[in-house]
This record gives sequence, C-alpha cells and structure tokens, in this order.
Amino acid sequence: MAQLILHPGKERSLMRHHPWVFDTSVMHLDGHARPGDTVTVVSADGRPLAKAAFSPRSKIRARAWSFDVEATIDHAFFKRRVAAAVARRAALPELAAQQGLRLIHAESDGLPGVIADRYGDTVVVQLTSAGAEKWRAAIVDGLVKATGCARVYERSDSEVRGLEGLEPVTGWLHGEAPAGEITIEEHGVRMAVDIVAGHKTGFYLDQRDNRRMLAELSAGKRVLNCFCYTGGFSLQALAGNEAGGAASVVSVDSSQPALDRAAANLALNPRLDAARAEWRCANVFDELRKLKTAGETFDLIVLDPPKFAPSASHAERASRAYKDINLLGCKLLAPGGLLMTYSCSGGIGLELFQKIVAGAAIDSGRSARIVRRLQGAADHPVDLAFPEGEYLKGLLLQVE
Ligand code: SAH
Repeated sequence: MAQLILHPGKERSLMRHHPWVFDTSVMHLDGHARPGDTVTVVSADGRPLAKAAFSPRSKIRARAWSFDVEATIDHAFFKRRVAAAVARRAALPELAAQQGLRLIHAESDGLPGVIADRYGDTVVVQLTSAGAEKWRAAIVDGLVKATGCARVYERSDSEVRGLEGLEPVTGWLHGEAPAGEITIEEHGVRMAVDIVAGHKTGFYLDQRDNRRMLAELSAGKRVLNCFCYTGGFSLQALAGNEAGGAASVVSVDSSQPALDRAAANLALNPRLDAARAEWRCANVFDELRKLKTAGETFDLIVLDPPKFAPSASHAERASRAYKDINLLGCKLLAPGGLLMTYSCSGGIGLELFQKIVAGAAIDSGRSARIVRRLQGAADHPVDLAFPEGEYLKGLLLQVE
C-alpha cells in the first residue's frame, strides 16, 4: 500500500482525529495510488497515523477512513460503518419515527464524502469525494442491508465533486423509480420531495427541529418566511399547535418552481387554511425593502438564506448580505416580534454570525435578545473531532 508522508508537525490534526489531510501538509507519496485508493498516512518521523482515501486532484489530498492503522478498508468495512450510522439514528427515539431522515452525515459518521438521506422507502445517496466514489457499491449494499429500503437513487451532482475531478452522476442504483411522487410526513405535515431535481437530496432535513419550533410559536401570528423553498417553514407555521396556526404567512423565494412546489405541498394538506398563505416570487433583498416602504410589519420572521459563504474566503461579502437581511428583518418586526435567523455557511462561524446579527440589530435601532440558539437536527450530528460539521447555526431573537 502506498504511503502518504507528511511534513514535520503536520501530523497534529490527524492525531486529534480530524479526518482531512491538506495538500500543503504532504511531503510526498511513496508508491503508486490512483484516485480513491487507500493509502497509509505517515508522519515525517515514520509513524503510521491513519488509513485514508487518496485524492490527487483535491486540496484535501486525503480523507481518513480509519485512525486504526491496522484496519482493512474493504467492502465489509463500509457495511459496518453504514450499519453503525443507521443504528445511531435508530437509537434516538425522536429520529426513529421520522419518514425523512439523514442516515449518513459524511465525516461526522466516519464516512467522508458520503451523504445518505431516507425519504420513506427511498434512500438518496450523494458521493462527493474520490474515496466515496470508489466504494459506491459497498456503500449502497450497506444501505440496502441496514435499512431494507426498496430503492436507492444517486444524486452525485453537487458542485464540490468538481474539486475532486469527478463528473456528475445521477440515477437509480437499486430498485426502480416509484410510480408516484415521493412524499414524507414531518410533524403531521405532508411534503413532496423531488429527489431528482430538488436542492441537496430533495429536502432540507437539517431544519426539522426548527420547523417544529416555528409551529409552536406561530399561533395567531403574522409570519414572514424568507427563502421559503418548497414551503417547509411556511406549512409548519400554518399548522401551528393546539392554540392554532399562523394568522397569515407571506413566503418569499426567487425560484418560481420552488414556489409552485410549495403551493402544491400546501394542497397536499387540506386541513391547512390555504387562504392564509401568500407566495411571492421575488428577491428577498428587494422584497424586504418594499415591505418596509409599504409600512408593513410582522410578528415572526424567518430568514433561512442559501449558503452566502461556502468557505472562509467569501466571509466578507457574505457578512454584508447577512447583515442586510437581518437589519431589514429587525425593522419589519412589530414590537416584541421574533426573528428566527440562520446561516448555513461553513465560512461563517457561530461567533461571527452572532456579531453580524448584533450589528444589524444596533443599526436597525431596535434592541434584541437571544432567547434560543438553533442548530441542525440530531440526524446531522457533529463529530467533536470535526467542528466543520456544524455548518448550520441560528438564533431566535426577541426584538423590541
Ligand atoms: N428554508 C427552506 C430552505 C431554504 S433554501 C426549507 O426549510 O426548506 C434557500 C432558498 O433561497 C432557495 O429556495 C432559493 O431559491 C432561495 N433564494 C436564493 N437566493 C434568493 C434571493 N436573493 N431571494 C429570494 N430567494 C432566494
């Protein structure tokens, strides 16, 4: 097996079980390895540190499969890792009951480059690294065995594959396309999931807990949901709790197909009052200004924008965008209103996000308090050795 020899001192992060080896840490490759092949990562003074997947095209030159240097990385290894990830979810009652569930959360489940989401009887996999690509068959076999699901679809069309020198791949890997559309129920609300053309694998499973929280907060409120996509937050606001649903929900997105899907999702739930929902196709930055000029106010505003900063190099521009929408959001809230605000940018940490939002509140002339900190659901765990896994952060603010 080829050995990837590190520069002196570059073994430290691996010794803390962080799974990435950057190109700048590598002194040389001893032997021959093709993309995705398993190599042994070795410190400059000759200590073996990990078995890892080699990726010659990527700045992340290798991703550790195991810190047990005796481990054999084979079909059986992946079946065990996949089964362990599935068992982790089954062990948490709040997750075991979900129809829409992330089964494998990449690095945080010991499977760098592997995402798997379950929607009822269908599993959607996304492979984003050379190592994951090499072990496709073993991963899919593991998923079928561990879940008993009827079908597996591959959605490996994420842009990050380009960084690994991989082409997009999509299609059925197990079973056949179902006859009708795929739907899931989340907190009593039915949603269609477009696994072929939707974002990510079709749905933002990571916001599940936060959508439930919104339902709990919405009774009787005038809600504004910005970046609504297929209406996940909007429908939960309409559903509400025992005290009732939102009085009105205005939802804004720049994608007409997403809004069409949202309206269709609402129609899947006849018990929700469609007369209280309004869908607006607009740029959120413009729409918030328009609403302000029109003198409108809301009791509860959700800001769940796309990733403005995929990496730290985009942080400055992204900060301005986050500040802009949060400033406008604060201004549009009635006194005592709630702002549920998120960032899913890997390049913006929690501390920076909070600073940006604090600046926005000051500039809006309002005073704001954090009443809850928000994060991804438990099926998106964060391995303590891999803090990058904590991409989603949010704040619930009470604004006076
Ligand atoms: N909150 C959603 C997920 C949001 S995804 C959920 O829980 O399902 C981000 C959405 O923002 C996408 O639907 C995209 O179409 C939309 N979007 C991106 N930039 C936008 C902009 N400038 N104005 C309005 N919508 C935008």
